[in-house]
Amino acid sequence: MLIKHNSVWMIDIEAIGNHEKYTVDFHPVEKRISLKRNSSEWIFVVGFSYYLFNGKAESLSTPIHLENGKVYVPAKETIESFGREFQKKLTLDTTNNTIAFSDLPNQKPTTIPSIQFNKKETAGTREVHTIVIDPGHGGKDPGALGKKSQEKDIVLSVAKLLKKKLTKEGFNVKLTREKDVFIELSERANLANKWDGDLFISLHCNAVDGIERQKRTEGYHFYVLRAPESEEDKAIARRENKVASLYGDKGAKEELSPLEWFKLEARLEKYKQNSYMYTEELLNSFNNNGKIKQLGTGVGGAGFMVLVGALMPAVLVELGFITHPKDEAYMNSAKGQEDLASRITNSVIEYKKAVNDYRKTLQH
Ligand SMILES: [Zn+2]
Repeated sequence: MLIKHNSVWMIDIEAIGNHEKYTVDFHPVEKRISLKRNSSEWIFVVGFSYYLFNGKAESLSTPIHLENGKVYVPAKETIESFGREFQKKLTLDTTNNTIAFSDLPNQKPTTIPSIQFNKKETAGTREVHTIVIDPGHGGKDPGALGKKSQEKDIVLSVAKLLKKKLTKEGFNVKLTREKDVFIELSERANLANKWDGDLFISLHCNAVDGIERQKRTEGYHFYVLRAPESEEDKAIARRENKVASLYGDKGAKEELSPLEWFKLEARLEKYKQNSYMYTEELLNSFNNNGKIKQLGTGVGGAGFMVLVGALMPAVLVELGFITHPKDEAYMNSAKGQEDLASRITNSVIEYKKAVNDYRKTLQH
């Protein structure tokens, strides 16, 4: 139940919740765990130095940590608030790596109301109609480089195919660029907002340095806008954001501070559920016997500047690694581009269905 991570004692939050008979829900895409009972709710998100208790943020000295599928929070800082809420005294037993629960003296017995408080996360239910496709980079910014190709050309080709396919399915499709031109990151989001999009998909190709890493690193990966969980995710965001600083996009930066994250989280809250819903459809579609493998869990979070300004559900798609020979060849082939565009098209169709189904459940 207790582990020591970077010399900080951390508690397995799921074990605590189960012990106290809370309803524990783990959402793998968001990497978020919630503990609910009666009118109390805790929310912990991996990578964040904050947690929410009944909607109120409490700060933590160490970010929430995911290890072997379990979510750990700093023990010392949270144990008191758990104790208050459970009306028990919690003591860390660091010899046996467990937590002792003992009753507080002279404590009134806990009364448990019979009505379950159910605060449902609400996703947007607007009909999914306008899809904004953002082929990354362009013009003087080639993006990542492969042996034979440039990121900017691959993503433009896939975007054009995607436009054709989605239009055929009845969607209103807009491209942030139709040809090889340079567009600033902030302008891409501005365009999407101007078009009043229902979904923003930014297309990219991933890359790594070093011959050995290039040989073994392959696969697609999707990114939603949330605090990064790993150094790799941070590095990928820095690389994609570099365009901004390299080419003089004023006000853009390579990384967000924790405070900026916190403010941004609040602003993007209303689009988050839908971004996650869509990302799940993307995963389903790409997992289905694709030529390009899934990298890791397939989903990460990071501060991609191109997503920051878009006031709509948004996802950044790294189609594959341009630095990996197999991925590069596939992403450049007509068959590969056709396949990638079809998979994204299917994910949009399924997402539209999911939003419609969700709306129906609300009407009942
Ligand atoms: Zn890119």
